[in-house]
Amino acid sequence: MAEQKTIDFLQKKFSSYYRENFVDSVPEIAAREFGYGVFGKKIISRHYSFASSKEFNYFLREQTPFFVSYSPALYEFPAKRPMEKKNYLKSDLIYEFDADDIKTDCKQNHDSWKCAECKTQGNGLVDNCPSCGSNSIEKTEWICNKCLDATKKQTLKLIDFLEKDFNFTEGISLNFSGSKGYHIHLRNEKIQGMSQPARIELLDFLTAKDLKLEELGFVYSKQKMLCMKEENAFGWSKKLLVVLKEMIEKEQTEEISALGNARTSTVKRFLEKKELILKGIKNGFLFPFGSKSKKFWETLLLNLVEKEKLFVDRQTSMDLYKIIRVPETIHGSTGLLGKAFEKEKLKEFKPLDESIIFSSNSLKVFVKETPKFYLNGENFGPFNSEEVILPEFAAIYLMARNSAELR
Ligand SMILES: [Zn+2]
Ligand SMILES: [Zn+2]
Repeated sequence: MAEQKTIDFLQKKFSSYYRENFVDSVPEIAAREFGYGVFGKKIISRHYSFASSKEFNYFLREQTPFFVSYSPALYEFPAKRPMEKKNYLKSDLIYEFDADDIKTDCKQNHDSWKCAECKTQGNGLVDNCPSCGSNSIEKTEWICNKCLDATKKQTLKLIDFLEKDFNFTEGISLNFSGSKGYHIHLRNEKIQGMSQPARIELLDFLTAKDLKLEELGFVYSKQKMLCMKEENAFGWSKKLLVVLKEMIEKEQTEEISALGNARTSTVKRFLEKKELILKGIKNGFLFPFGSKSKKFWETLLLNLVEKEKLFVDRQTSMDLYKIIRVPETIHGSTGLLGKAFEKEKLKEFKPLDESIIFSSNSLKVFVKETPKFYLNGENFGPFNSEEVILPEFAAIYLMARNSAELR
């Protein structure tokens, strides 16, 4: 636990931010349930409601929680409990992409673990101690532009799915979570009225859960791998055919051989028949790939699914009662803003620059063990239990993470 002096300082800073910035990011605010958290605890209390944004901002200024969450669901009586008494009306649909859910190489550089049993430690992340097998592992996780970029790619892919496969183009709101990824709030009428089974079905589609090649029209029959004709294909069939065609057109030999688990030289020779292969796809079959054709196409298609599917946090999208960070509020374990932005800006959005809300004034802190980290155009650290003078935004970031104390 951090020192009280540090916690008080952070709260004072957060409060002064809310005094100068009016948060107006929750539509139909009076019908939402709210919850809040304190230093180190994301939700300690919920079942609150606010009659207006004005009332909500008064709460932010005067109480200044470290975390504030709201319900994607809208209720007749949002503050009542138990949940049944709130009288559920409808709900936004939320997707959350978190760097924790995506494997990236950078974790080896910035994350570390320590076994609570035998005290062995190492870089990267493990679920079980490689030395004693225990699963009580203390993880120290950090973020960098690389892992946040992986979550951004997922977010872009989701928007592509929603727009192309479902024609959902209206009412998509995005924000940086203020920590490890992005939140996507879908708020149009059609989506808000969706039943729970329909939400699960959509989630299963996006994450390619239980997807079977035969059901997508990829059937091996009479020495041939059949596929749907492109003009009739939809959903995953279409997606796979489109990616496949693109790889073949661009003669991506390396990629095809990796995904299909075949020799590069064989794939190279195969691609000499490019025109025939593309014609085949148009006519409903995948051109025979030598004697191991069935195996090759199946492997390739299944690996393509793995590559194209989304790594969504299932719980966030399925649990109708879950509450999620209010966009444009401060994330209490980073001091970064859960910055909201237009979906057209996603590609260019720089999460570790554009979510900075505190000044560059110097501040003296005692920093615990810290790897090199990036914020606002600069790299800091590594530090190892030392007193350092940092710009306020970086000092607040470390203090909020419980990686530094005020001096
Ligand atoms: Zn151990
Ligand atoms: Zn990273």
